[in-house]
Amino acid sequence: IQLANTGVQRLKPYEPGKPIEELQRELGIHDVIKLASNENPLGPSHKALDAARRALEQVHLYPDGAGFELKAALSERLRVDADRLVLGNGSNDVLELVARAYLQPGDEVVFSEYAFAVYPLVTLACSATPVRVESHLYGHDLAAMADAITERTRIVFLANPNNPTGTWFNDHALDAFLARVPEEVLVVLDEAYFEYVEESHYPDGLTRLRDHPNLVVTRTFSKIHGLAGLRVGYGVAHPQVADVLNRVRQPFNVNIPALAAAQAALDDHDHIENSKGENAAGLAQLAEGLAELNLEQIPSVANFVTFDCGGDALPVYEALLRDGVIVRPLGGYGLPNHLRVTIGTAPENERFLKALGRAMAR
Ligand code: PMP
Repeated sequence: IQLANTGVQRLKPYEPGKPIEELQRELGIHDVIKLASNENPLGPSHKALDAARRALEQVHLYPDGAGFELKAALSERLRVDADRLVLGNGSNDVLELVARAYLQPGDEVVFSEYAFAVYPLVTLACSATPVRVESHLYGHDLAAMADAITERTRIVFLANPNNPTGTWFNDHALDAFLARVPEEVLVVLDEAYFEYVEESHYPDGLTRLRDHPNLVVTRTFSKIHGLAGLRVGYGVAHPQVADVLNRVRQPFNVNIPALAAAQAALDDHDHIENSKGENAAGLAQLAEGLAELNLEQIPSVANFVTFDCGGDALPVYEALLRDGVIVRPLGGYGLPNHLRVTIGTAPENERFLKALGRAMAR
């Protein structure tokens, strides 16, 4: 059957890791740890889990397609009007909605060479043209990205912090960039790891919405809130843009337990603070451990660290795997010598560092 959409022919599928149970069977190890997908090592908030369990009683009903209560809670927490919000089946869903709503074949989409894998995916799925901008700093070269905008550009994707590198850009850099973007080009500012960042000049994208009607900020419940498996995220945008995104989304794109859990998670300040504390301690623990092994890391403000193995990273990745530790190889991101490891609990980080020491000694 002929494929009219030529972008789809160029698409490489997103490669998720193997399920832990399958790996444990393959390796004959019962306590494999997965530090590969930037999940919260503390798990979900118990309040969120209880809310999700209670919500299961309702699963014979369709969810509230408008997500009224979660939007009301987000609106209050984020101090944005509810008509600026769009909920998604994970923030990936929102990224895709933006692409689906605004891209036509041949349109250009600008992102960094180290950008999150979903940006090229949604771009190609719409037969639009990815424009990858080099960055010698492992993150975004915002000046070069602004230079790359042409009259065919419709969307620019930015991630702050960036995945897979953990880098971030400051308020001055963001504002200088936004000032250069023509108003008919949408800027999607992906803040999946927003809650982890403590740096004083780290910009809150939401505060730029008023001056920049072409800005879409995306966030998620998958990371700090520990709800990756339930799939819930959101976008905040100008009401007209949010309206467009709400029109193109599936009517019931966020399920009942996810809506309930997300709402409860927003209120669980203890879980958020514990998660931040655990992450900051883990970042320090890994920085120290990697330095002891003489391995260079890319400075990270997120819940993962990317480090240079000093040569092909695949044998290190495989040795770690045999030792029961799953991390993320980054060959697909043009970083064949690097591995990305998610911050775990202190004992998990310790186990990773020991296994890495053994892998590097081989
Ligand atoms: N953006 C970035 C930068 C990410 O790293 C991720 C998760 N890996 C997402 C978006 C999507 O997360 P989710 O769909 O779970 O909200």
